[in-house]
Amino acid sequence: MASTETEKPTCPVCHQSDMVMTMQEAYDSGVARCAPPDMPTRNVSMMPYIIACGVLVGIFIFLIIVLIGGLEANFNSTWMIVLVGLTLISIVSALVMSYMAFQRVVKGDAEATERFPAWDRATAAWNKLRYCKRDDVVFDPEVSKVISNEAVAALRSMEEESAENVANTLVKK
Ligand SMILES: [Zn+2]
Repeated sequence: MASTETEKPTCPVCHQSDMVMTMQEAYDSGVARCAPPDMPTRNVSMMPYIIACGVLVGIFIFLIIVLIGGLEANFNSTWMIVLVGLTLISIVSALVMSYMAFQRVVKGDAEATERFPAWDRATAAWNKLRYCKRDDVVFDPEVSKVISNEAVAALRSMEEESAENVANTLVKK
């Protein structure tokens, strides 16, 4: 194994390499903060909208059936108009919500696509990092520098701009 030396860099804290592992190995052994950066996915679901629309329309259909069926005798036309109006409003609302849901899904897709390059860089940076089990530290083997938990978290989260900064700093070397 010629690559042993690059695979087992020296820890900047204890200056030994016997406990050094890759981030993947550290994560597999249960160090949660060494998890790889999350792949961007569109975290927009249409389900809440569909359920809301369904419930809304369902309520009015139920009301129509109950009121028209149960109160046939003394059901005056004013209430009928109100009920029909409300039903129409609920149907229009359902259509508007469907449209909004569609827009959000499209937007979420675009956002996920935008985040892919950042995720690529974060993953590349993450691959270069090493973890020392003895000292419980993540470090950059190329400069023998300990990476703070905040920086590792930022790198993983991909939510904050700092993630990109961390990734850029690590990869450009
Ligand atoms: Zn160490």
